[in-house]
Amino acid sequence: MSGPDAETKMQFLYHLRARGVTDSKVLAAMEEIDRGPFVRGLFTGRAYEDMPLPIACGQTISQPSVVGIMTQALELTPRDKVLEVGTGSGYQAAVLARLTRRVYTIDRHARLVREAMQLFQDLNLVNITAIVGDGSHGLPEQAPFDRIIVTAAAEDPPGPLLAQLKIGGIMVVPVGQSDTVQTLIRVRRTDAGYDYDELRPVRFVPLLEGLGKDG
Ligand code: SAM
Repeated sequence: MSGPDAETKMQFLYHLRARGVTDSKVLAAMEEIDRGPFVRGLFTGRAYEDMPLPIACGQTISQPSVVGIMTQALELTPRDKVLEVGTGSGYQAAVLARLTRRVYTIDRHARLVREAMQLFQDLNLVNITAIVGDGSHGLPEQAPFDRIIVTAAAEDPPGPLLAQLKIGGIMVVPVGQSDTVQTLIRVRRTDAGYDYDELRPVRFVPLLEGLGKDG
């Protein structure tokens, strides 16, 4: 992380640890990827606070501690091929890209994908591919995936995403109605089927169908 001063950086990492981000590799990746450039306009001064913030298209950049919790729940290895549904600002994808081989990220808003791709290029994150599309269908042309992370809330884990998870793979997805507190679920695909565990309450924007209008 080059942007914030040492005190701000220390506070940022303190809040991550205090809220349950304990994996040293995840903490190192989040220290390295500066959240500043992913926050624009009015809210740039709040980039290092542990809170979600508004971005374009009526969407949000997730709370850093939630990014950390979801990332560590994926139990990434350096060889994984990961799908993220919900590019948003691109911050989560950038953190993932520090920890693994290949990241595909998809968002229904073309503007968000365009802006995220510019940031990935500026940061020389060459192992991320960003795609415009409805991620609830997954990305069949690149499936199967070792890991899938969904950063918008679904009523249930979407069937196509479950199908595109490798055996032995892990998916992390917020599940529940969009206007209530949702539950972060971890799904492990085994030879026998799918095992589910509930991780914690979260609050995300909804996973919507089709492409979004930019603005
Ligand atoms: N991961 C993001 C970040 O690091 O900034 C935050 C994601 S934001 C909370 C949720 C994102 O999911 C929004 O950008 C929204 O456009 C996207 N989204 C919602 N439904 C979607 C769908 N069906 N397919 C792809 N993206 C979707």
